[in-house]
Amino acid sequence: MGAGPSAPKDEQMEELKETTDESVQRAAAAIAQADVLLLLTGAGWSADSGLSVYKDVADVQAYRERDLTYSKICEPHWLEDDPELFFGFWGGCFNDYRETREHEGYHIVKRWRDALFDRTKTSRTLAARHGGAAQAFYSFTSNVDAHHLRVFGEAEVRECHGNSETWQCSDRACHTFAESADAPSRWAAPSEFRFAVDGETHNAPDGAPSQPAAAPAGKPQHGFVGNHPKCPRCAKCMRPSILMFADSDWCDDQAQRDRWDAWQSAVEEQAVAQKGGTAPLRVAILEVGAGGNVTTIRNLAETTAESINGKGGVATLIRVNPDLPLADSNRRQASTISLPSYGLAAVKKIDAAMTALRKQGEAAVATADASPLPLRTVPIVPVESNGGDGSGSGRGGGVDPTTGLKPGEIAPSSPEQLLKIRETFDAIDTDGSGTLDREEVKNAALQLGRCFIGKDLDDAMAAMDCDGNGEVDFDEFCEWWEGGGKLSASERFDLKWAQFGARMDQVLSSALAGAGIRNPA
Ligand SMILES: [Zn+2]
Repeated sequence: MGAGPSAPKDEQMEELKETTDESVQRAAAAIAQADVLLLLTGAGWSADSGLSVYKDVADVQAYRERDLTYSKICEPHWLEDDPELFFGFWGGCFNDYRETREHEGYHIVKRWRDALFDRTKTSRTLAARHGGAAQAFYSFTSNVDAHHLRVFGEAEVRECHGNSETWQCSDRACHTFAESADAPSRWAAPSEFRFAVDGETHNAPDGAPSQPAAAPAGKPQHGFVGNHPKCPRCAKCMRPSILMFADSDWCDDQAQRDRWDAWQSAVEEQAVAQKGGTAPLRVAILEVGAGGNVTTIRNLAETTAESINGKGGVATLIRVNPDLPLADSNRRQASTISLPSYGLAAVKKIDAAMTALRKQGEAAVATADASPLPLRTVPIVPVESNGGDGSGSGRGGGVDPTTGLKPGEIAPSSPEQLLKIRETFDAIDTDGSGTLDREEVKNAALQLGRCFIGKDLDDAMAAMDCDGNGEVDFDEFCEWWEGGGKLSASERFDLKWAQFGARMDQVLSSALAGAGIRNPA
């Protein structure tokens, strides 16, 4: 385990930049030698196509005047409270995603996929295990622009936050009913359709869209008639099937999720099958543009690499990120090639290096050094036991080398740290009520050095707000922050239960003592 994404120190960044060329060579070798390639992408990858992330989309005068931050706009309740705002924001994103061409990086990776991971011995063995159409390649993304589906096959793409091209009924009951009746519950937006969005207000009034959908005779009603698309079944408004913030109505694409789970299991099974043989399964994990805001992709990258290595394979994580290229967990740095770069630029460099390497012939590819370059400024502290169970949480009792704490143990804060947390809490709690609501918790976490949105924030609130009244007091906040708030999403999830127990002890001992003294355990 370890702290969440933290920016490298100056001397670390300096060394990473000095060694970038060598790391690019090794990344190219790792991909060229791999049996399996997993592409993991976050917002930074889409940004290379010129697309704005939500934060920038929302940074306009009309929203500022209404004091609407992007996380507020991205909440689904606007569909009911202010549909013009809702369809203005999501319709604007939809239009932009459609008008934007995916960048060259997609096509470079597609070339690698076709040349090295399609219809190979490994891909056939994997297919026998997962029973699907995916080869020895998968693209997993948190981006919702659906651009991966333009380039890669449907059977090899997982969009963990949904996509803007697929729409669902806003009424979960309608959706659930359809699924149980095996009727359509998600609809693809027609290709011609564009929302009419006012350039000044960014609202999308009901009425005519800017480009209507063609309605060929005999085609079923698709719901995209007006500027506010309606569910073809119940005529309530539809919404993009995207995981928004504070969103309990999003319906994931279960089939897509199942395909990914099956493929991932097949890769792990294959690593076990080849363990101890002449050649271990080699897996290259290329992670691009996954920053510290949404940690799903970073966690997945590191835990997948660790899991495969723990099962006898050789997994190398190539982390491409201009600000946060290091492994979030120190011990995982040993299997991480860190490239401090923007995504497209790095992919082009790796491609050039790989082309040069492959030109030298098979022997050169096979003998090229594909191991992560050891970094002088990032010493790896070996973990004595617990060879990695793949859960990333080390439930077996692995001790964090940097904190000396076991999973579930709560780090005691120094008086200075407590003061800092108290000051932050009081500064956020402007009305002096002694409690923070959801938005305030997010701001407090941000000021203490971490950004929580969406599911992460939901998890945090669920972990802290025991009585579910939507408010968090200082003790709850402080204990959560010390024990788990600084950790990654999966680690926080594990800690949630330890936290719950600790808080119960605290509540009981407080009640017994008749005073609000914190129980140190
Ligand atoms: Zn409906």
